[in-house]
Amino acid sequence: MDYKLIIHGGFFSESHANQQVKHAKQETLAEIVQKSHEYLKTHTALETSVYAVSLLEDCELFNAGLGSQIQSDGKIRLSASLMDGKTEKFSGVINIEDVKNAIQVSEKLMSEEDRVLSGSGALEYARQNGFEYFNPETPQRRNEYEEKLNASIGLGTVGCVALDKVGNIAAATSTGGKGFEIPGRVSDSATVAGNFANAFAGISCTGVGEDIVSAGLSVKIVTRVTDGMSLEEASKKSFEELKSYDGFAGIIGISSTGEMYHCDSHPYMVWASYDKELSVFA
Ligand code: ASP
Repeated sequence: MDYKLIIHGGFFSESHANQQVKHAKQETLAEIVQKSHEYLKTHTALETSVYAVSLLEDCELFNAGLGSQIQSDGKIRLSASLMDGKTEKFSGVINIEDVKNAIQVSEKLMSEEDRVLSGSGALEYARQNGFEYFNPETPQRRNEYEEKLNASIGLGTVGCVALDKVGNIAAATSTGGKGFEIPGRVSDSATVAGNFANAFAGISCTGVGEDIVSAGLSVKIVTRVTDGMSLEEASKKSFEELKSYDGFAGIIGISSTGEMYHCDSHPYMVWASYDKELSVFA
């Protein structure tokens, strides 16, 4: 089986992100997708999607982990989830504070009976499991917060979908949210609308969380593939359905037949894939 993977760095806003930032994001995605493809040679799809998303979280260009957007009360809260297409287990954290890699807390939760934790419970669990205090704020995000530049949409959620050499699929997604949200808002990223995988396909989303949840986007596309559609057909049909409410979303996906696909409702998403060769797009 050919192993392959696709990653994304969410949307960028033309008005905010200049060409330099866009190019920096593309270069970083190219580097991370190559490293992760190498990693996938000797690791499972699940391990690799955590690896890729951790690298993306550690890069302050993206709105996940270090450099996440600040919420309306001045705090950063992270949400991330992971789904193993083989076992069909989903795990995640919602609005966790003061950790470096929310995706790794999600990975730890994979072996628990209670696999999705939020807020203070998620933080307590993380500390008990050795995740140390980390402040993901950067001066850039603090300036943006103070200038209230990003009141409309978050930028640069990250995700990965991987297909390993034994044919298993996994999906991982991580976000700092949309920026300036009411504390307690739940992003799509740690729900089955924003991140889903089974034996047939895996999807990671970015965009306006409320639109993605209304569509049940990831699980809907994966279900359509499970019922016989190609990944492209399933994605196109699901994006058609977003039009009735002008839904703002983008996805990356892989199916068990090895089909890789990306689509977005607005053309400002950055993503990269590695099959036999590297492709980077925005
Ligand atoms: N989906 C994320 C959210 O609504 C934001 C993003 O993808 O940029 O929290």
